[in-house]
Amino acid sequence: MNSAGRRPVFLSQSRQQSMAMSTEGQENLANVRLPRITVPPHPIRLELAPREKEALKERISSMLREQNAVLVAHYYTDADLQDLAEATGGCVADSLEMARFAAAHPAQTLVVAGVRFMGETSKILNNEKRVLMPDLGATCSLDEGCPIDLFTEFCDRHPDHTVVVYANTSAEVKARSHWVVTSGIALPVVRHLAERGEKILWGPDQHLGRYVQRLTGVEMILWPGSCVVHEEFKAEGLVKLRALHPEAAILVHPESPAEVVALADVVGSTTALIEAVRTLPNREFIVATDAGIFNKMHQLAPDKILLGAPTAGEGATCESCARCPWMEMNTLEKLARVLETGEGEIHVAPDLAARARIPIQRMLDFARTLRR
Ligand code: SF4
Repeated sequence: MNSAGRRPVFLSQSRQQSMAMSTEGQENLANVRLPRITVPPHPIRLELAPREKEALKERISSMLREQNAVLVAHYYTDADLQDLAEATGGCVADSLEMARFAAAHPAQTLVVAGVRFMGETSKILNNEKRVLMPDLGATCSLDEGCPIDLFTEFCDRHPDHTVVVYANTSAEVKARSHWVVTSGIALPVVRHLAERGEKILWGPDQHLGRYVQRLTGVEMILWPGSCVVHEEFKAEGLVKLRALHPEAAILVHPESPAEVVALADVVGSTTALIEAVRTLPNREFIVATDAGIFNKMHQLAPDKILLGAPTAGEGATCESCARCPWMEMNTLEKLARVLETGEGEIHVAPDLAARARIPIQRMLDFARTLRR
């Protein structure tokens, strides 16, 4: 712990290099020294009494109505926020669907419960609307691990490459890219670009990038970023848990390391994993993604048994709890406060928003062609 009570995590060059040397086929991992990322501690919550919680939710619902506002929450946020979003006419979704929903909704204020890049994306697509977030400090290790100056330098070294970035990036990084993708649409976009003969530079999540490479057969240059939550899932523990539950299907998010992905029955975006629980005949599921997703899974498939994939083990850290510490910063209390005070507003300069909108809009337009 440092003096601010925060745990420093080093995504250092030596760690990147050891990863690059440990597995074959990773020579296309960029040799970039990533910045030091400070992961916040998991908050200690004082649980409200049921009556207080209901009163708080009612107060928030009234403010949403009065302010012509809609609440859009990510699957990884607290169950109370997810339930409130749905009860008030908002939505609970993955980042692609959150962006689509926010763009189509007529509300004048969008309240985004998630992490900062999600609020920025909503603002970029809706520059005339007010976008609020319960906590502007809720970021993401992928976003923080891909600063614009380093990323620009990296892209400039490969001017003949099409730059494809994951949605978990800042507005500046999006503006420097040609395409933005989410995990749900990465595969068809990369196939599409490869068919057009384009060379691809991928950032910032190396694990998702490697997964996309493996499935498409398309070689890409990878930025060496990673998600501190998904990187913690352990293959060895997963094998042991599977031995205890041989009928369980293993569901893995592709931000996880390759050896974990290799054990999966289903690899996919949050939406794809939820859909797997709903539709597969298995009764038990071992789930390797943020535990916040269990709320929607339980809701859609109440008779299924959900088991969290193991994260702990030798060398386990405080990140090893399958809860994103930034997503956890979203609370009902903070949501009420930003609606009362107007604090927590996301601002993106109009010229930056205009540049960042181009690759996002490209993704949304491409997604529409897939649904036809
Ligand atoms: S779970 Fe990982 S990718 Fe998602 S917001 Fe948290 S740190 Fe970022």
